[in-house]
Amino acid sequence: MSLIVQKFGGSSVSDAEGVKRVARRIVETKARGNDVVVVVSAMGDTTDDLLDLAHEVSSDRGSSRELDMLLTAGERISMAVLAMAVHELGAPAQSFTGSQAGMITDGIHGAARLVEVQPHRIRESLAAGNIAIVAGFQGMNRQTRDITTMGRGGSDTTAVAMAAALNADYCEIYSDVDGVFTADPRIVSSAHKLNEVSSEEMLEMAANGAKILHLRCVEYARRFNLKLHVRSSFSDLEGTWVIPSATDADSAELMKEIPLEQPLISGVAHDRSQAKITVVGVPDVPGYAAKIFGSLNDAHVNLDMIVQNVSTKSAERTHISFTLPQDQGGTALAVLRRVQQEIGFEDIEYDDSIGKLSLVGAGMKSNPGVSFQFFEALSEAGVNIDMISTSEIRISVVTRADLLDAAVRAVHTAFGLDSDDEATVYGGTGR
Ligand code: ASP
Ligand code: MG
Repeated sequence: MSLIVQKFGGSSVSDAEGVKRVARRIVETKARGNDVVVVVSAMGDTTDDLLDLAHEVSSDRGSSRELDMLLTAGERISMAVLAMAVHELGAPAQSFTGSQAGMITDGIHGAARLVEVQPHRIRESLAAGNIAIVAGFQGMNRQTRDITTMGRGGSDTTAVAMAAALNADYCEIYSDVDGVFTADPRIVSSAHKLNEVSSEEMLEMAANGAKILHLRCVEYARRFNLKLHVRSSFSDLEGTWVIPSATDADSAELMKEIPLEQPLISGVAHDRSQAKITVVGVPDVPGYAAKIFGSLNDAHVNLDMIVQNVSTKSAERTHISFTLPQDQGGTALAVLRRVQQEIGFEDIEYDDSIGKLSLVGAGMKSNPGVSFQFFEALSEAGVNIDMISTSEIRISVVTRADLLDAAVRAVHTAFGLDSDDEATVYGGTGR
């Protein structure tokens, strides 16, 4: 008998029909003799609708405490409705809020991190023969005794944390696409599904814009050596296995199959949510970058790519550019304007019409031809490059936002990732 954690995203439970479909799948999994824990997201666009509602009654969306109280209601609705649909099929099920399920977090509303997972009640419920259904994306802080949320898309992390704490055999993440694709199938219709991907590559893809999995869930799964199966709730097709670095015998067995088939490249990720700031005319002497990034760090701005121009000898000044999430742009600009005088740089430029494209593949480490082929594809597509950054298994560039789709397609084709079949997107949100 296996213990399986199944997580269903909002698109899988967007209406009563969807809830019933999910209920059937859960009951079938249980009927095959497995213990089943289910983690569920809010139905359809509920979270966005609740955010809009908060906006309508409050200019700053109320306090973060109340916003978390509001948003967690979305997942509570799904868990209860899903339990009812399971009962209707004659199977026993119990639903639990995050705090009932023992998801203990720090006190940061809207971006809480897990500090402990104590699923006593889930174990009891399973032992009593139930399917346990847990509300995703939420937890409780012990000090404040308040309810918290773990950031948008956080239900993936709830599922993986639950699976790790219960020592589950694996964790299935269900959405409305068949798995992890070589590119977003909404942009590249010839993208194909990967059968397996290493957690390192998945981390790079998630960190660089692939929305299929929450970044923290991939980190968590890797840390706890947990296998993830990313698949669609609209079909019975096998999805994509995300395999952690082989340290246990089981994953080692799975990994063995990879090297021979290991393609050079696993996919092209893109991100439209970033902006670029250029700090112009920074004195080119030691200590100035530290001052600039120190002030941004104090304001909790998340930086991504950072580039410093070579300064010309005569000017003795340089430009420093970096990217950051668009929604932190205002904060970053305010911080920089405040310290401009004191640090003594000349100007600040802000650009939020950028797009970022990343090519990810463990095979590129040992293949120097990859970067040439990559830049050649971009040049043939007439895409100008603003910034470049690399890791051992990734090359990223910043381009103009309006050229991003064309750039993704060009790179996808250049690396032979196109398939003849058209990728299926069942619901449309990819969650
Ligand atoms: N319902 C939350 C959101 O839309 C959490 C999740 O879906 O994972 O972000
Ligand atoms: Mg959602």
